[in-house]
Amino acid sequence: MINREHPLHIQQEEAVLERIHESHSSRETVANDISAGLSGDYGEKQTNYYFKQSQLQESYTYGRLRLWHEDYFQIDKLVASRNVLIPVEVKNMSDELIFTSNGQFIQKKQGVEIKYQNPLSQVSIQRTHLERWLRAHSIHTLPVEHLVVFTHKTSIIRNPTNDQQVAERVLTVENLPSKINQILRSHSSPVISQHQFETLNQLFITKHEPFKIDIFKKYPAVSRDDIQKGVICPRCAKINMHLIRDKWYCPACGHKDTNCHQEALYSHFLLYGGAITNQQASEFLLCNDRQTNRILSSPSSGLHRIGARRGTKYFMPIDQRPDIFFIK
Ligand SMILES: [Zn+2]
Repeated sequence: MINREHPLHIQQEEAVLERIHESHSSRETVANDISAGLSGDYGEKQTNYYFKQSQLQESYTYGRLRLWHEDYFQIDKLVASRNVLIPVEVKNMSDELIFTSNGQFIQKKQGVEIKYQNPLSQVSIQRTHLERWLRAHSIHTLPVEHLVVFTHKTSIIRNPTNDQQVAERVLTVENLPSKINQILRSHSSPVISQHQFETLNQLFITKHEPFKIDIFKKYPAVSRDDIQKGVICPRCAKINMHLIRDKWYCPACGHKDTNCHQEALYSHFLLYGGAITNQQASEFLLCNDRQTNRILSSPSSGLHRIGARRGTKYFMPIDQRPDIFFIK
């Protein structure tokens, strides 16, 4: 099943996983990517609880906000208040996390050292992008303070050279409320009006473009022919439902359903993007033209129609809003 609460690119991977063969060579890679993505997503969501324990008021937090100014940039978590903006890089990494003297970042786990991109450098680049984006939208006064937060319960931060930036801006999630309070003390008065604040938040929502992947580029071993067509049974997950008099029937488990073509159409949009023609839908749902016509034109399909007659195409509006959490 595709979980529509998950970030869009993870839903795309879920759509691949449920339609490639059990023995496909990419299955393990796709499954691992999904679990790594969900672990990161879990870490980001966890921070909401700690933000709520701080003195933040009337503030929004945005998860995975992705904006464009000269280039795309994505912020794991952005806290927006009338006093300050705080972009946060969230890492759900375990064990020893070492910031070395030469700016490298190393995870030491069971004696093995693995080098990763330095999250402090990552978030300071995002901060620069964000500041440019704000100026481009005529917001000049709002200060920006960046942080790196480790959410895994076993993470230990090592700062062997006592680097000041690491000491000030890198922390474990338990210390998030006190760090936020400290930032709020140094930015104690609002610098934009309530109206400007609401406008800014509307701007974040409308300018957000969720990260999507081209699955056939990301998984070159997966071809279009590897994606099994048909409607998936919501009960037994077999891809072989038949449409009999407006009802879907699963020959494997006997389940009957009226609307499970919606899920198949949703997968099609996740996998291939763009709009769908009657013929493409008919090939994907494994229905005849007349049945497909009825499905596509029914309001319950959740589709929007573009064009007329032979040129008619359909598209499904996919939820594009960022993940928003409001702190009263
Ligand atoms: Zn079934």
